Amino acid sequence: MKPFQRSVVWLRRDLRLSDHRALFEACAASEEVVPVFLIDEDILDGLAKDNRQVHFIQGCLDELDERLKERGSRLLVIRGRPKEAIPAVVSRLGANALFFNHDYEPAAKLRDQAVSKTLRAGGVTVQSFKDQVVFESREILGGSGDPYKVFTPYSKNWLKTLESAKDAHLRDYRPDLKRLVPAEKIREKNARFSELGFVESFLFVSPGEVAAKSLLKGFSKKIGAYHEQRDFPAIEGTSRLSPHFRFGTLSPREAVRFCHEHFSPGTKVWLNELIWREFYQMILDQYPHVEKGAFKPEFDRLKWSSNRSHFEAWCEGRTGYPIVDAAMRQLNQTGFMHNRLRMVAAMFLTKDLLIDWREGERYFATQLLDHELAANNGGWQWSASTGCDAQPYFRVMNPISQSERFDPEGEFIRKYVPELKGLDSKRIHWPHEGGLFSSTPAGYPEPLVDHKTQRLKAIAMFKK
Ligand SMILES: Cc1cc2nc3c(=O)[nH]c(=O)nc-3n(C[C@H](O)[C@H](O)[C@H](O)COP(=O)(O)OP(=O)(O)OC[C@H]3O[C@@H](n4cnc5c(N)ncnc54)[C@H](O)[C@@H]3O)c2cc1C
Repeated sequence: MKPFQRSVVWLRRDLRLSDHRALFEACAASEEVVPVFLIDEDILDGLAKDNRQVHFIQGCLDELDERLKERGSRLLVIRGRPKEAIPAVVSRLGANALFFNHDYEPAAKLRDQAVSKTLRAGGVTVQSFKDQVVFESREILGGSGDPYKVFTPYSKNWLKTLESAKDAHLRDYRPDLKRLVPAEKIREKNARFSELGFVESFLFVSPGEVAAKSLLKGFSKKIGAYHEQRDFPAIEGTSRLSPHFRFGTLSPREAVRFCHEHFSPGTKVWLNELIWREFYQMILDQYPHVEKGAFKPEFDRLKWSSNRSHFEAWCEGRTGYPIVDAAMRQLNQTGFMHNRLRMVAAMFLTKDLLIDWREGERYFATQLLDHELAANNGGWQWSASTGCDAQPYFRVMNPISQSERFDPEGEFIRKYVPELKGLDSKRIHWPHEGGLFSSTPAGYPEPLVDHKTQRLKAIAMFKK
């Protein structure tokens, strides 16, 4: 006899069946397990109706339900606000335990504490687990016992800790799916995001665990050249797995096991990116003030520009700097932006237009399919030089030389800025003067600012 007659597994950012810690533990400890997803109205309140992440999640839920039905079970999707809806469903189902995986975002931590408190007060057992990272924030500490603030020593320790007990840290948690509740025992109809007016939108990767596994498999052919190709936006040299990491359709342990199976110079660099992901999760968990302000609070005193027309031009890809505009248009059209261009675009907003990084962070949050508080915040604070281990403020990326270096033929720019299609690979990076033409091509905006002047202004602002 197992300790729990019936348990609920509350799925959140772990929308898969394989290598799933909470599901594994629930199946091991319960006679019957009901997987539940809550359409959380607290989160949805402020979102646009064509939000890409919502569409992606719906796709993941449909796939999960389908795969569970093939096994004679089902997913239960409910709607409401977590503090009331989760205790209510646990009680409605007559469950005596709730299982879920940890989430490190400040609001999620408060939510989980509140739900756990209510359930425990009612005699329900609540158990939660590490799942979305290989190492949680307190597992990788500096010599003084404090969390790291700098990436390189963190990553060295991360790798050393992994090596010390690789099999245990990368264990594949395979749930005993025979414990899943028979579908006919749950009569409730599943809620859908469309009931709240949400509509479909373009997705640059397909949702669901099956798609994640197939993307990872395809990436095995590219990973060997990752270190050489990852900085060139015209080449699809990166994995494009970020939405799958975001929603847990791929287990981070599986990704690291994959690195061990496909070892190459490129793999080493890719693994380093997975460690950056965990580094920023650790930063958010240990230094939650970063959600609202600079990691280094002295940078909260910077006097940013409030020029709305500049901000709007940046959002819409009309700055007159082709690589920045191509990047922003890629984001708006597809919900993805290449990592190199995220740095270029973020630095342009903060160091050329002198606009507060939080404005850019918020805009990215509305557009990115892979939007994730920890990585987005970390990336913005890095680019704005306000974060831990950030780019020093005096090292300002030049958008023209970045363009010449990482899109040498202008192929990426031509794809997203058709006004510049006819320009040769020299002039496309700066189409405003010189070459065969003496002025900006028709239909393309004049530059909003002069990079050289703005760079000096930014450095002076930071110095002050
Ligand atoms: C300003 C800015 C904002 C960003 N916002 C986000 C965000 O909201 N969500 C997000 O997942 N990433 C964010 N990143 C990090 C990075 O740009 C994306 O993870 C990457 O471009 C996703 O593409 P990929 O899956 O092909 O990455 P790959 O190069 O294949 O990397 C594999 C995985 O490692 C992780 N990763 C890679 N680079 C980073 C990084 N610098 N920081 C943290 N994790 C990383 C991602 O999970 C990624 O899927 C941001 C970076 C910057 C500079």
